[in-house]
Amino acid sequence: MKMNDVTKQHRNLIAGEWVEGAEINENRNPANTDEIVGRYARASRDDAKRAIAAARAAFPAWSKSGPQQRHDLLKRVSDTIAARVDELGELLAREEGKTFAEAKGEVMRASQVFGFFAGETLRQTGDAIDSVRPGVEVMVQREALGVIGLITPWNFPIAIPAWKIAPALAYGNCVVLKPADLTPGCAWALAEILHEAGVPEGVFNLVMGRGSEVGAEILDNPEIDAVSFTGSVETGRMVAEKCVAQMKKVQLEMGGKNPLVVLDDADLDTAVDCALNGAFFSTGQRCTASSRLIVTEAIHDRFVEALTEKLRALKVGDPMDGAVHIGPVVDENQLEQNKRYVTIGQEEGATLVCGGEVIEGPTPGHFMTPALFTNTTNEMRINREEIFGPVATVIKVVDYDEALRVANDTDFGLSAGICTTSLGHAAHFRRNAEAGMVMVNLPTAGVDYHTPFGGRKGSSYGPREQGQYAREFYTTVKTSYIKA
Ligand code: NAD
Repeated sequence: MKMNDVTKQHRNLIAGEWVEGAEINENRNPANTDEIVGRYARASRDDAKRAIAAARAAFPAWSKSGPQQRHDLLKRVSDTIAARVDELGELLAREEGKTFAEAKGEVMRASQVFGFFAGETLRQTGDAIDSVRPGVEVMVQREALGVIGLITPWNFPIAIPAWKIAPALAYGNCVVLKPADLTPGCAWALAEILHEAGVPEGVFNLVMGRGSEVGAEILDNPEIDAVSFTGSVETGRMVAEKCVAQMKKVQLEMGGKNPLVVLDDADLDTAVDCALNGAFFSTGQRCTASSRLIVTEAIHDRFVEALTEKLRALKVGDPMDGAVHIGPVVDENQLEQNKRYVTIGQEEGATLVCGGEVIEGPTPGHFMTPALFTNTTNEMRINREEIFGPVATVIKVVDYDEALRVANDTDFGLSAGICTTSLGHAAHFRRNAEAGMVMVNLPTAGVDYHTPFGGRKGSSYGPREQGQYAREFYTTVKTSYIKA
């Protein structure tokens, strides 16, 4: 296994060169804060400017490079990621804190995404249409947009960069990636893989650093044509305002407060497993996490009892320990936020059934037991605001109609789930849930890589990500009229 060298400075990739940063970012393991995962360069605003200029200079050639070259590059990247799954999975688990098994799953997802978009380079579509004017032909084709700025969060540090980089490059764009400052390791590894796979100079650039420096340059620089952002609602709103003011194309994926409805006729084991996985796996740090469990009266007590029993059996600890189900919270700030919301829930009158305690792990890290609240109402802050930790609530409702109303009564609309054996309720929920993704008898988190991803209301803005729908964002349409 190729291990990360902690003495080396992992530099930024600008115009095909590895460039030192203005500062060094010590990337620490949230399961053991004494352990440095790696030292990463923090770019300055000037570095970001140079990366953007390099991408602009590379665009004319790359956008005309043709599908075979782009296919071969993306395929090599996909194959290399898959071949290095154990090493990259360990890096991911050590910098972000999800379990090794989950981390390897995420790495494979990144490989599959590159594989999918390698294929997409060859599956171009367009239209040839007869004009209403005699002797004139019309063609509709898609072209690359230009230079795309990608700004990504810490919670999926390889999959999210992958599902933005792969379509951007596949459709002929050049890229400047700014990963989250908390998790630069996976983005750096991806940059190294792209570089070694032969990405031409300037076509892909990595600028690790702070949002206020590197992120701000991406938003302000007129040479950036489009920005794809994933992160919090607060930052997303600011990103959109800046982009719209400059007429940059923009796509945002943000938070969630995803409901999982459990009806009286649900299979209890299925419902409990969906809640356990959806709400608590990956330490609850998923935008698609089921943070609101909306449960009808007759199954409520059995559901809470069975879920609590399973929660108490979960082992929290070192993500590299195969017996551990839940790794650490990503950092001190997120841990403080989780603790704050546990206190808010108690002050609001909810009942903390289990968990919510900060515990000592085998090493100094940010460990917290998964928390479940009952006796909550949908008006409480713990049901309205995204916590982004291993904290879920149960909202008791009378029947399906109330469940659907409560599920939709939120500022967010990313994913919504229902556990039921009623075809009628499943079909009605699928049509009436105000969310970008609906899950029936499945956890709200966990999606395919070849299908559109995104939400409604405060969760998303702009075209969908992933699958063929990604081309809506990463291409622009040209209509040509030809008279022979
Ligand atoms: P964040 O908004 O703090 O940061 C996201 C990115 O924006 C980071 O790279 C950050 O450095 C950058 N940034 C911060 N300030 C900036 C500025 N002024 N200018 C430009 N860039 C700036 O989010 P986070 O804490 O990294 O991630 C957690 C959030 O991401 C949660 O709200 C979660 O729901 C959301 N998320 C959403 C999805 C989705 O697809 N909907 C997926 C994963 C995470």
